[in-house]
Amino acid sequence: MAKNRALQQWRVEDSIELYGIRNWGAGYFSVSEAGDVVICPQGPRGPQIPIPEVIAGLHERGYDMPVLLRVENILDARITNIHESFRKAIKALSYKGAFRGVFPIKVNQQQQVVEKIAQSGSQYHHGFEVGSKAELIAAVSLLRDPKACLICNGYKDEEFLDLGLQALRLGCNLFFVLEMPGELDLLLERSEALNIRPNIGVRAKLAVKAGGHWMDSGGERSTFGLSPAQIVDVVDKLKSCDMLDCFRLLHYHLGSQVPNIRDIRTGVMESARLYAGLVQEGAPMGYLDLGGGLAVDYDGSHTNYVSSRNYTLDEYCADVIEAVMSILDEQRIPHPYIITESGRATVAYYSVLLFNILDVSVVEEVQLPDTLPKDAPEPVRNLHETLSNISLRNLQECYNDAIYYRDEMRQLFFTGRVTLRQRTLAERFFWAIIMRIAREKTKLKNVPRDLEDIDVSLADIYYGNFSVFQSLPDSWAIDQLFPIMPVHRLGEFPSRQGIISDITCDSDGRIAHFIDPQGMKPTLDLHPLREGEEYYLGVFLVGAYQETLGDLHNLMGDTNVVSIRAAEDGTYEYVREIRGDSVADILTYVEYDPRRILEDLRVTAEKAVKDGRISPSERFAVMQAFENGLRGYTYFER
Ligand SMILES: *Cc1c(COP(=O)(O)O)cnc(C)c1O
Repeated sequence: MAKNRALQQWRVEDSIELYGIRNWGAGYFSVSEAGDVVICPQGPRGPQIPIPEVIAGLHERGYDMPVLLRVENILDARITNIHESFRKAIKALSYKGAFRGVFPIKVNQQQQVVEKIAQSGSQYHHGFEVGSKAELIAAVSLLRDPKACLICNGYKDEEFLDLGLQALRLGCNLFFVLEMPGELDLLLERSEALNIRPNIGVRAKLAVKAGGHWMDSGGERSTFGLSPAQIVDVVDKLKSCDMLDCFRLLHYHLGSQVPNIRDIRTGVMESARLYAGLVQEGAPMGYLDLGGGLAVDYDGSHTNYVSSRNYTLDEYCADVIEAVMSILDEQRIPHPYIITESGRATVAYYSVLLFNILDVSVVEEVQLPDTLPKDAPEPVRNLHETLSNISLRNLQECYNDAIYYRDEMRQLFFTGRVTLRQRTLAERFFWAIIMRIAREKTKLKNVPRDLEDIDVSLADIYYGNFSVFQSLPDSWAIDQLFPIMPVHRLGEFPSRQGIISDITCDSDGRIAHFIDPQGMKPTLDLHPLREGEEYYLGVFLVGAYQETLGDLHNLMGDTNVVSIRAAEDGTYEYVREIRGDSVADILTYVEYDPRRILEDLRVTAEKAVKDGRISPSERFAVMQAFENGLRGYTYFER
């Protein structure tokens, strides 16, 4: 095991193994000889961009941490990979239809991201999936390609339908996907009123239910979608008003991050059966939309664990095409366009959250007296004895004793029978015992359950300059795992075990679950801080879902966002930048008026002058400090 090498000599290769970067990095991230995390925009054999160098460049340009760094080349590569993988599968299996990808805007609605996807995806006719009027308007404004699909999901009111019909008139290849039976009447009414024939699709409720965090989107009890009987009603209704020719698409969505290829395959087969049934009913169809769900291997374990997936992109594409063909060929039904709505798999890789560590709190090696004071109470004597009796064979027993005597001392203190100093002595012995047990238990093959948590209680707390609530909401809300690691010093042995706390001073604002090839681990290997030197960590694969779910906990606002783009020769530019929220911005979001704030402060300051507490020139300095504060970043500035 790599850690045994610590005593000899730690090498960069050991860090690569420890943090698993080859397993989750998908070839986009690696570690250089110098011990820095590097970005590999053209894959593992291309040029490398050291992240510390990017950070230094940002500091020179006046950007403080935290920064969300986007690497545009990675987004291009992801879109290319998805299309090329499908092309390969289509060719290999002689599928007669084509693939059309769409990006679901809800996964990352940021203008710069959506615009970039429209640009990068245009050569592949990559389109958008929208679930609201706002997303529809954004998509129509950015999508110029008449071959790219625009899928309208979500519940649609009259205005949503009218906007979609107008977009059809503009030449968009737009589909209205019925989420509920009741939507059809309104759609027919509006299309008649505006005299535009719509492309109609239905969202099917499949029987298959996928495993994972997000499984509620699928299954028969899912909130959205039509049952087979309701789909037949749609057919009948369209037939009766002579509009069956508008029925073009079948859609379903199993839920996000489907870790098991078997669920994906079952979903495709079930939907292909429905599709075949609709063609036999006389609907022209032509499009089969498999929704999202293509998973990201966050922990690099390549398993069907929730933060992973047991298939590659190539396997996904081949399975999809093969499954569709196996059903449709049997009934001689022409091959449709295959649409997928992969969001997570498209954008997760291209963003990295970078932050610096502000401070570390360490459980100190405790100082114990050589001899016990004469007045030491009984429990302290017992703790002392426990400490001297620890051996490999009685760890659990010593642990139980330590807790018992410590609690006994606390009780005596509450009832006023021992002094503060006596109690403190007991706590010192207690921690000395815990530390000794922690050291000894590393020699055990099977660690008793109770002792597993000891490492967590002894872990350092690294205070990161960021907000979990703002930048990693899924880490907080659903305990999603992201790969986290230092972005430099990787040639050095990471001698500390730590958890990460953010600066929101909320006890939930912490990260205490980390990826591990064996599942997950409660602490992260980190380096001790060095005097006068920043220590930077990166949270990787955060491009999907993290940006707009975030909230303003403690009024920590949006972080700085910077995009880089690398050229073939490995040089790179900072191509897009968005300054994070200022304090004034964030106060405005919660309905304060910064001018009013300054006016109120001015009144208070002038009164202080009048009362003789400050001089007029001190008032000037006070006011300047507040004005600068309002302009400043909401995070810790150096
Ligand atoms: C959220 C969502 C997606 C995106 O799913 P991913 O797993 O991120 O690819 C696709 N389609 C619909 C209808 C969704 O609600």
